[in-house]
Amino acid sequence: MNVPAPERVSIDVKMQRLNIEWADDHVSTFPLDALRQACPCAECKGKSVDHITKPGFLHIFRQKNRWSDVKVEKAGSVGLRITWDDGHSGGIYRWDRLRELQPPEE
Ligand SMILES: [Zn+2]
Repeated sequence: MNVPAPERVSIDVKMQRLNIEWADDHVSTFPLDALRQACPCAECKGKSVDHITKPGFLHIFRQKNRWSDVKVEKAGSVGLRITWDDGHSGGIYRWDRLRELQPPEE
């Protein structure tokens, strides 16, 4: 899948979100908990997640975990490597995968 370039990635720990601004002006907003569940490593089986809905106003209160020490780094042009509070960083969230999890139609 051909996806527009990600222009800006930011983590908002207060709102428990990760935001990606794409070159085509689409903005993806992922609740951190849902993103963790979609972890691409073999252990987490996150591949079964096929969609992540944008968080609503009350989402933050329904989230099971609270993440306060999340680190995100770009893994070259491939995607994002996310390291969670518990030290887990099981794989690379590919750009096309992230885009697929929350496409512009939403
Ligand atoms: Zn994992």
